[in-house]
Amino acid sequence: MAERVNPYFLKELKKYGDVRIEECFNCGNCSAICPLSTEEDNFPRRMNRFAQLGLRDRLLASKELWLCYYCGECTKTCPRQADPGEYMASARRYAIASYDPTGLAKLLYTSPVLSVIFLLVLAVAIGLFFFQASAPMDLQTLRLFEFIPSALIHNAGIIAGVVIVLAALVGMVSMWRRTFQALGYPKGTRLDWWGAIWKAFGVEVLGQLRYRKDCESSAVNKPWYAQKWFIHASMLWGFLGLFVATALNYLLELLSVKATGTWVPLWYPIRLLGTVSGLFLLYGTSLALLRRFRKDDTSYEKSTFSDWTFLALMWLAGVTGFLLEIAVYLPPFAWSYWMLLAHLIVVGELLLLAPFSKFAHAVYRSIALYLWTLKPLPESEQASAPAAAD
Ligand code: SF4
Ligand code: SF4
Repeated sequence: MAERVNPYFLKELKKYGDVRIEECFNCGNCSAICPLSTEEDNFPRRMNRFAQLGLRDRLLASKELWLCYYCGECTKTCPRQADPGEYMASARRYAIASYDPTGLAKLLYTSPVLSVIFLLVLAVAIGLFFFQASAPMDLQTLRLFEFIPSALIHNAGIIAGVVIVLAALVGMVSMWRRTFQALGYPKGTRLDWWGAIWKAFGVEVLGQLRYRKDCESSAVNKPWYAQKWFIHASMLWGFLGLFVATALNYLLELLSVKATGTWVPLWYPIRLLGTVSGLFLLYGTSLALLRRFRKDDTSYEKSTFSDWTFLALMWLAGVTGFLLEIAVYLPPFAWSYWMLLAHLIVVGELLLLAPFSKFAHAVYRSIALYLWTLKPLPESEQASAPAAAD
């Protein structure tokens, strides 16, 4: 089938970052130096050609786009200063916007001014939504979790969760179809669907194996806790831990094992999980913000507005969460009620925008890693397993 060429593709890509890949003369240095590129999954040179030739669909169907962790090694060695690392990051932003049919992701990536307006309007809307249902602040009698009814927070969380999952599913299905077809397995090939799960989600997503082992080879002068893989992992583990703690807490309340909004000691398992996870989140986001501010790595030199917004919201979620946790153990103060409202606004923004912001890269990279680990079963097992679908 003939491939469609989009003559405006490179021009469009430039809206998503400092793309200079037209300077590339295809020498191959970048692919040779890339610690994650292999003969089978060759990048970034092949991706460069897609942009130069206007092969938009080929780029969007490339799992390799998401296998890059932006270590910046390719950028350092490019003889043409074509900055392939930044190009890959920009192409990922473009891909997130392309998988989103609403156009919101494109707006958030390409217009800082409209993004600020949108974020402010959304913050005010979330704030008013919760504040109109709040109880009067009576510091003598009111407990913190009675200020805004827990049932409202739970119900709003469930509705927001459904909206987020539906919005994310559209993008995930679009990405899956493109990238799976691009794998090119002949119809009827039996694939190791189950075997790929642990390697992709356990070893690579949670364990960050290749990021840790291969991408950090040039950062041996930094202690492990200051390396990019650990900063990245801290944010990931922190967020997942907080998500699990929140879900478990909700489940216990739903099953009436625990009354809604009751005080629990710090060593209560769910609170402990939430506290430790919050520390990871705060550590990771603080260091990521600091290193971006200092531009102390090639990959931190060209931060976009979307990078800053994503990190700032994560950091604010951690800070307001901890201030709220401290407030729980103190006598009622007026600031603690405002902190609860601020926390709900920040977390609401972060989650509602997840399918349209940099947050989405976590989902798309996980899918790409799954497809990367997905391999045909050995010949002897080909007859008894589910076949590859179109
Ligand atoms: S090293 Fe630079 S010039 Fe060479 S292929 Fe990569 S991007 Fe192009
Ligand atoms: S930024 Fe690093 S991982 Fe990404 S393509 Fe370049 S060398 Fe490879």
